[in-house]
Amino acid sequence: MTQNSEFGTPKQPIPYGRQHITQDDIDAVVETLQSDYLTQGPKVEAFEQAFAHYIGAKYAVAVSNGTAALHLCTLALGVNEESRVITTPITFAASANCVRYCGGTVAFADINAQTALLDIAKVRALLESKPKGYFEGIIPVDFAGNPVNLEEYRKLADEFGLWIIEDAAHSPGGFFYDSQGNKQLCGNGRYADLAIFSFHPVKHIATGEGGMVTTNNSELYQKLLKLRTHGITRDPALLEENHGGWYMEMQDLGFNYRIPDMLCALGLTQLQRADANLARRKGIAKVYDEAFAGINDIDVLQTNPAALGRNGETGHAYHLYVIRVQDRKGLYDFLRQHNIFAQVHYIPAHTMPYYRNLGFKKGDFPEAENYYSQCLSLPMYPSLTPEEQEFVIQKVKEFIG
Ligand SMILES: *Cc1c(COP(=O)(O)O)cnc(C)c1O
Repeated sequence: MTQNSEFGTPKQPIPYGRQHITQDDIDAVVETLQSDYLTQGPKVEAFEQAFAHYIGAKYAVAVSNGTAALHLCTLALGVNEESRVITTPITFAASANCVRYCGGTVAFADINAQTALLDIAKVRALLESKPKGYFEGIIPVDFAGNPVNLEEYRKLADEFGLWIIEDAAHSPGGFFYDSQGNKQLCGNGRYADLAIFSFHPVKHIATGEGGMVTTNNSELYQKLLKLRTHGITRDPALLEENHGGWYMEMQDLGFNYRIPDMLCALGLTQLQRADANLARRKGIAKVYDEAFAGINDIDVLQTNPAALGRNGETGHAYHLYVIRVQDRKGLYDFLRQHNIFAQVHYIPAHTMPYYRNLGFKKGDFPEAENYYSQCLSLPMYPSLTPEEQEFVIQKVKEFIG
């Protein structure tokens, strides 16, 4: 990287995350652009199959973005004005908004202060505070790439008759160990009814805009396919009438949430590098871990113990590398001065004006708010060079003193 000789400050900003595009990616997109299909062509299904295989799920449905994926999930599960759904305040707003799109009510439960994941004990307490049947589902989030223990969530969900949507936007390739010691990949459909991924450029796999739903449930899979494209089916087995070769039926109120073939071609080549890029993310995390170990004023988020193997292997997918410091604003501004664009994930969803207008207020979820006051996501992406990372570490340490 190019640096000013005196301070070592890079001329180009170092962002907190960025896409990784190679010549293979470019060639794949150009090739598809020259083919017969720009929207629903062969690359869509090929990407779905390759992604399902990668995640270990039976079915995958590619869509226009991660938010559309979440909306299709709540639609497929029949969320409506009577539905009440629990999620975490420390997430991207779409995890909660997807309930609102269907007119349902969002309930938040607070986070675990060590991991910043939704606290299952607080979810249980919330469930027990109401009659059975009051809540309909839970949307846990593998925040920062740190996998939630879905086996435990499944037990809880079964006890209270709930469905689960796993928001795995941060965790493709992540995993936790179940009670038998088996690896369970995020989004594999073993415990959650549905899982979603995003292919926004800062996420692990970038298609520009893009998303995926994965599931092992064939009935939900069929619903997703139909809802992705206006609620229309052409499948002769599903038609109520059949007037001839042209005939199709709009059976439900669906949307156009399709993703173009060109972007699926990009997704396919991106997916080929997913393991290598994930390994690089883990390597970056290790260097940060070692650099900050023993510094009292820097607190690193804890990996969910369920995601740590006995052999030291980690199932954390490291979408983000989050530290907590007392003077977060000071550190953020200091890093900006040195062209390091750290970021904050997230402003608690319940403190957003939209959710405050629905009755939430500051003080409702103290752990989430306390976390927010201290958290900062440091640069974390496969093409971050060792020199750039060293520079980031040096500047963080310089500020902390
Ligand atoms: C990025 C993200 C989404 C939404 O994905 P888009 O593709 O940006 O619509 C949903 N949930 C979480 C946790 C995310 O980080």
